[in-house]
Amino acid sequence: MVAPFESAVEIPAEAFPPEAAVHAVNPWVALAYLIAGICFILALRGLSSPATSRSGNRYGMAGMLIAVVTTLVTHEIASLPEILAAIAIGGAIGFVIARRIAMTAMPQLVAAFHSLVGLAAVLVAVAAFLNPDAFGILGADGNILTVSRVEMALGAAIGAITFSGSVIAFAKLNGNMSGSPILLPGRHLINLGTLAAILAMTAGFALSAHAGPGEHPIFWVLLAASFAIGFLLIIPIGGADMPVVVSMLNSYSGWAAAAMGFTLHNTAMIVTGALVGSSGAILSYIMCRAMNRSFLSVIAGGFGAQGGGGDAGEARTERPWKRGSAEDAAFLLKEAGQVIIIPGYGMAVAQAQHVLREMGDLLKEHGVTVKYAIHPVAGRMPGHMNVLLAEANVPYDEVFELEDINSEFAQTDVAFIIGANDVVNPAARNDRSSPIYGMPVFDVEKAKTIFFIKRSMGGVGYAGVDNDVFYMDQTMMLLGDAKKVVEEIVKAL
Ligand code: NAP
Repeated sequence: MVAPFESAVEIPAEAFPPEAAVHAVNPWVALAYLIAGICFILALRGLSSPATSRSGNRYGMAGMLIAVVTTLVTHEIASLPEILAAIAIGGAIGFVIARRIAMTAMPQLVAAFHSLVGLAAVLVAVAAFLNPDAFGILGADGNILTVSRVEMALGAAIGAITFSGSVIAFAKLNGNMSGSPILLPGRHLINLGTLAAILAMTAGFALSAHAGPGEHPIFWVLLAASFAIGFLLIIPIGGADMPVVVSMLNSYSGWAAAAMGFTLHNTAMIVTGALVGSSGAILSYIMCRAMNRSFLSVIAGGFGAQGGGGDAGEARTERPWKRGSAEDAAFLLKEAGQVIIIPGYGMAVAQAQHVLREMGDLLKEHGVTVKYAIHPVAGRMPGHMNVLLAEANVPYDEVFELEDINSEFAQTDVAFIIGANDVVNPAARNDRSSPIYGMPVFDVEKAKTIFFIKRSMGGVGYAGVDNDVFYMDQTMMLLGDAKKVVEEIVKAL
């Protein structure tokens, strides 16, 4: 082994276990991965603000290019034709799916892709368990190296949890399964017991004296328990908490990739996985704070969930409500001093963002102050509304977060709700039995006039609960597809 620098202290040869396989890393490869790692950090930095997100994306693409080319040049386990064939097959499937998928189905697509990362981590761990020699992790005593067993067990466990958790998240978001929490009796005990068993099995597997290739059956039991816990952790999570689940599974998929990096001795994968894992964890924490949920209770599997949510409930259409026309709306909007636009999932369904920006531009020409208010969980994925408004070239300085704009509704003439529902529902403030209770929402009822765009009075938001704002004195319902309604307002303006 070549010492990287001269040491004054002589290290005795016995310090290195004789069976330890040394994975010599080519310094050029290490340098390339280091540069890729720096690019990924700059990418995250850039993506933290809409104004710098383009450069963030460019850094991310450059880092990924460096990492992929370096890996291709230094491929070890598979041959180049095998790698290229796998890239061609995976790339073609990804290309077709990405082209076909509707923007509104993005969250379930993300969940499905997370499940593949989890499955990949499981398969890498299984391959290393069955054929450790190919991965250079077989000791001279015929056992898999202890440290590799720990990495393998963690990789398999995190990967399996990510896989089964993401499959359930996909089924809930895609409507194949009810969005309501499924609360098993004694679930916290079952979850804690299974987690403790996984940790005990990891220790047992790592410390076992007999751990040759494919030898230890405990590995398979650990894998099965991990698949089960992924399933158990996600089924009790109700509809309104799904955004946190999506970002949490994103974080898990990062840790699963980092674990794969250890097994494959790939520094770029360890760095990238750790970045995805930690940024996903921070995002989950931010989402929890936005929804006034405890982070620990959500990751512990719906702690405190009371049922409800998802598709439960129906709007109580028998209460009196007022219907407005596009002409009424155009007249009042033109006369307003300040208009706050609150976009939600329905804007994404209708793809109304472009015509909405046109409406905003026209109002500004009439001297109206126009602001856009984005709730952290509006839409169906983190940043959903920001992406759509940016796509429509809405200026960044007109877009405000919940805590920055909520105090302004009292001085606002018109709150213009377009395809949003749960994020403006006062039940989150007033009704303890509501599945969204505790989530901070926009104080739209403080505005002088409210325009509420949705397709029908029967439709409910994601959490499936009625909304008192529909029936308020100052509310005018503008029923119809969001894009069509705004087009009519633009015409009238
Ligand atoms: P929402 O509560 O789901 O409400 C969407 C509204 O849009 C409904 O009132 C619906 O009523 C209307 N709508 C649908 N299609 C429309 C169209 N073509 N034209 C006009 N209106 C249309 O949406 P939100 O206020 O954005 O709230 C987000 C919810 O999703 C929260 O509960 C959040 O927890 C959850 N969620 C968020 C994420 C995330 O990461 N952001 C992920 C998963 C779940 P009609 O059917 O009557 O038109």
